[in-house]
Amino acid sequence: MTVATGRREELSVRLGEVRDRIASAAGEAGRGLEDISLIVVTKTYPASDVSILAELGVTDVGENRHPEAANKRDECGADLRWHFLGGVQTNKAGAVARYADMIHSVDRVKLARSLDRGAQAADRTLDYLIQVDFSGKPGRSGVAPDATLDLAEQLSDLTHIQLRGLMTVAPLGEDPRPSFEQLQQLSAQLSDRYPDATVISAGMSEDFEHALSFGATHLRLGRVILGERPSLQ
Ligand SMILES: *Cc1c(COP(=O)(O)O)cnc(C)c1O
Repeated sequence: MTVATGRREELSVRLGEVRDRIASAAGEAGRGLEDISLIVVTKTYPASDVSILAELGVTDVGENRHPEAANKRDECGADLRWHFLGGVQTNKAGAVARYADMIHSVDRVKLARSLDRGAQAADRTLDYLIQVDFSGKPGRSGVAPDATLDLAEQLSDLTHIQLRGLMTVAPLGEDPRPSFEQLQQLSAQLSDRYPDATVISAGMSEDFEHALSFGATHLRLGRVILGERPSLQ
């Protein structure tokens, strides 16, 4: 068996297992699969993995660095939806706005305005989520829960980026459920005011079943499908 066939087999098996787990957690939560999107987080893995995933029916991939994301998109094509997760430096926002389809990590006005200008320059519009941090710990990305609706209001005049909902990363090593529960409550308030903002991006390899029980619509899964990441230097 060649290396490529081996990897295809491995990804196919893992993806199948994850899809089964998603289906059973959704079933337990009394939810249908039609409102649940799987984003496979391919950061640090090669473009060849992205191509295999696309052949296996994956439609959405997540990356967190520029230009790694741009290079993979050039190689693997625009048929996939490219999600940008994690910190975007303001000076790279214009570049990211040219190819990302959804940005999950907007947490300040300046970043949103840079994305909006970049999208306008590229003559496109892109979707964004506001990233919320429920831990209150310094140094974490994300806006405080009680500042979220205010931020949405401040960004409501931007015409080339469209608010689609909220995202959170549960604090590492803690029970993720309080964050997911609060995100679901905040999402209900947000979508009351902005009916197109219904996305709840929550759930990673370790906690996605909990996220599904609190209404997550977009799961961001890396290691559980691709295997442990080579450690970042
Ligand atoms: C890396 C990353 C993920 C995926 O994490 P896994 O533990 O590999 O599933 C999800 N969300 C964000 C914001 C990430 O940076």
